[in-house]
Amino acid sequence: MLFDLNGRVALVTGGNGGIGLGIARGLAQAGAVVAIVGRDAAKSNAALAELRQSGAVAEAFTADLVDQTAVVAMVRAVAERFGGIDILVANAGTNMRRRPEDYTMEQWDAIVGTNLGSVFACCQAVYPLMKQRGGGKIITIGSMTSIFGFSLGAPYGASKGAVVQLTKSLACAWAADKIQANCILPGFIDTALTRQARRDVGDLEQRVLDRTPAGRWGTPDDVAGAAVFFASAASDFVTGTALPVDGGYSSFMA
Ligand code: NDP
Repeated sequence: MLFDLNGRVALVTGGNGGIGLGIARGLAQAGAVVAIVGRDAAKSNAALAELRQSGAVAEAFTADLVDQTAVVAMVRAVAERFGGIDILVANAGTNMRRRPEDYTMEQWDAIVGTNLGSVFACCQAVYPLMKQRGGGKIITIGSMTSIFGFSLGAPYGASKGAVVQLTKSLACAWAADKIQANCILPGFIDTALTRQARRDVGDLEQRVLDRTPAGRWGTPDDVAGAAVFFASAASDFVTGTALPVDGGYSSFMA
């Protein structure tokens, strides 16, 4: 069955909330066993309870993904718990809105380290496990800022643009190992991250509505379908792509 994930083990970073939890729900519905990762154990436990309540086989792991040693230990723990890893959704990310001239280098490092460095570390850590299984699926998360400039998010946009290029390089390097790597570019999705953005930028709510042909903000569950596609055999000849899931935002010239 093209979209069947029964027997697959999925690791979703940032799976304890927002888009990551939406993706975890979708992968679990398609049959995957799901490991979610975050820093906030209470949030992870609540997400885990929700996933299990809906019938998922799931486990939560705590790690700060900017620490490569913690990434390696977490990946080992997931593989030990479930016997391997078939799908990585490198979703964890962060932002801080400032004009470019106002960021400190510490803030730059924190944003780029989370959105790009941790993605690379997770991909590197799962690679030998996927190779050993005879293949795998890597899904990274870009953004509309992978395509467009964002005057209040220079490090965020730089990291999200780079994630697309990183994904292409991994797709090329690991194709012979039957590992496909693809990137999802979410439009504006209602999560904790964008609720903060709407507090910081007064007219953001309406500007997004005006600019989105679908006429609404997305929900975390809107992103799950693309993730199931990229996680399943349906995408076995699809690699190195970046797919907008944006209600038409990136197709619309306002
Ligand atoms: P949230 O803030 O709701 O979720 C971010 C997640 O990342 C949390 O689960 C958080 O877990 C985890 N996380 C952040 N930093 C770390 C870290 N150092 N170590 C481990 N986990 C970490 O945001 P969204 O769901 O909105 O965002 C998810 C992804 O989607 C991000 O990459 C974001 O850039 C991207 N995105 C979001 C869009 C949107 O409109 N919402 C649009 C485009 C892209 P914890 O709190 O436990 O640390």
